[in-house]
Amino acid sequence: MRRFNGWGEEGVSLPVSASAAAYLAERVGSSRAPQDVTLADLLARVSPSGIAEHDLPSGVRISLDQKERLQHATGQSLPDWIALRGGTLARVPDAVAYPESRDEVRALLTFAQKTRTRVIPYGGGTSVVGHLTAPAGEQAVLTVDMGHMNRMLGLQKEERLATFQAGVRGPHLEAELQAHEYTLGHYPQSFEYSTLGGWVATRSVGQFSLGYGRIDSLFAGGHLETPEGSLDVPSFPASAAGPDLRQWVLGSEGRLGILTECTVRVSPVPERETVHAAFFEGERAALEAVRDLAQTGIGLTMIRLSLAAETATTLALSEHHRAFGWLNRFLRLRGVKRDQCLLLYGAVGRALDVSNRLVKARRIIAGHGGVSVGPHIGREWYDKRFRTPYLRNSLWDLGYAIDTLETAVTWNRCASTVAAIEDALKDALQSFGERIHVFTHLSHVYPYGSSIYVTYVFRLGATPEDTLVRWQALKQGASEAIVKSGGTISHQHGVGLDHRAYLQGEKGLLGLDLIRSALRTADPEELMNPGKLLE
Ligand SMILES: Cc1cc2nc3c(=O)[nH]c(=O)nc-3n(C[C@H](O)[C@H](O)[C@H](O)COP(=O)(O)OP(=O)(O)OC[C@H]3O[C@@H](n4cnc5c(N)ncnc54)[C@H](O)[C@@H]3O)c2cc1C
Repeated sequence: MRRFNGWGEEGVSLPVSASAAAYLAERVGSSRAPQDVTLADLLARVSPSGIAEHDLPSGVRISLDQKERLQHATGQSLPDWIALRGGTLARVPDAVAYPESRDEVRALLTFAQKTRTRVIPYGGGTSVVGHLTAPAGEQAVLTVDMGHMNRMLGLQKEERLATFQAGVRGPHLEAELQAHEYTLGHYPQSFEYSTLGGWVATRSVGQFSLGYGRIDSLFAGGHLETPEGSLDVPSFPASAAGPDLRQWVLGSEGRLGILTECTVRVSPVPERETVHAAFFEGERAALEAVRDLAQTGIGLTMIRLSLAAETATTLALSEHHRAFGWLNRFLRLRGVKRDQCLLLYGAVGRALDVSNRLVKARRIIAGHGGVSVGPHIGREWYDKRFRTPYLRNSLWDLGYAIDTLETAVTWNRCASTVAAIEDALKDALQSFGERIHVFTHLSHVYPYGSSIYVTYVFRLGATPEDTLVRWQALKQGASEAIVKSGGTISHQHGVGLDHRAYLQGEKGLLGLDLIRSALRTADPEELMNPGKLLE
């Protein structure tokens, strides 16, 4: 069963070792376990539904059950966690619907129009920017859980296209495709729960984006039900027929309507898939190597560079941190002594092609003074890549909050943006007399620049309100640093509630008006996920 107030399945955990806890205590101070509220406490605070059972449309499963409403009230952002664990959740939706077909989605939108009910499309509930928060106000809120619309509707092998209902989750989608020897190759770290519709609506990016592409390029077309009618986006291989409607659907964050089907571009399952590791001394050499790898275009599937603080933290928190002694001795012998930076690089394809790509990558890495250490660390990362988020639960239980933020900048701004964000985070906690542990990696690279992914750990406050105020200061400081550095406010997580204040700086007033008018065309009464993306 999925945890009601944290990440992942009950019974699955990733404990923090005593040495890892000591490592954190040294950096941010020793912590005290929080007093979280129980599920019963939370349920006792859920207000009665504002939707009367007899008003509900027939033929669609809709629940007014308190627990189901609570389970659909949040995503996975830190404010969501604080609200759930501290018992400060402002509102839960009035009802949760589970449509099974396009017609049922249509019936729900007709009901919403008739009753002026607000609608929140819900995929896997893994949003980290407040996409799923029920807005305040008199109007009732209906959350539409797409989880029952999870079937593969067709696979056109010759065209390499597959069509799914939009509520399909990552593992189910891959299992369906791989049964036919195909893959989408889209692996966000939230893969276990997140859905195809959610990926498209938030423009998600998977770990192997360098090889398979972001969801932006994998999404070929689909079907959207909006309050004003249906929108079909055909799956042309390419088109010059005016602006691309796919781009309106991508990143629409549930504001245009509900995606019911998506057609995606798939690839044959590769013969070989491998992730190797290398180390650099110093961030400068590492960044230059990564830029070189990204621009040379040797066909890697992933390039992930942990900067020095993240490399040190990864090695310290690893279950095998003792075994890293030998690695360190080897690296020192090879001249990688200070500010070690860990590079993971992956390749997929025919076995011979993969070997050739790895040889070329190693040559570039060595040209920048990097030392290749083979596949062991890469394999460890690969095997545990969906387990790491479970650490959030164990850290919280110890009294630490862990959160992440991300942007993308051109190469010339990369190092200065990392420094600006990390400094802003450190400054933000100073007025609380608190310390923060910050570390960064580059997870998605392009010929022109890179994404920057920052993780930070700080102590929970004495009350949920205190923790929230700390987080708000951190988020504001880091977001302002991102904007000032010329970065996008989101490379992959979307806008939701947490980034919308910064959107105008990026799109301009006219740009925002264009987006607003498109939303109004599809949804004139502003029923769809109001407040997300734009005020
Ligand atoms: C531990 C963790 C790791 C993560 N790793 C990554 C990562 O590697 N890469 C990445 O890009 N993101 C990542 N995320 C963020 C998140 O998983 C993505 O934004 C994901 O795409 C959300 O998908 P979802 O199905 O859970 O959508 P939800 O969270 O349910 O919804 C997100 C938004 O999409 C809308 N939406 C959902 N389904 C539909 C639909 N069918 N029609 C219309 N609108 C819809 C919702 O209304 C909402 O606005 C991570 C999150 C967590 C918690």
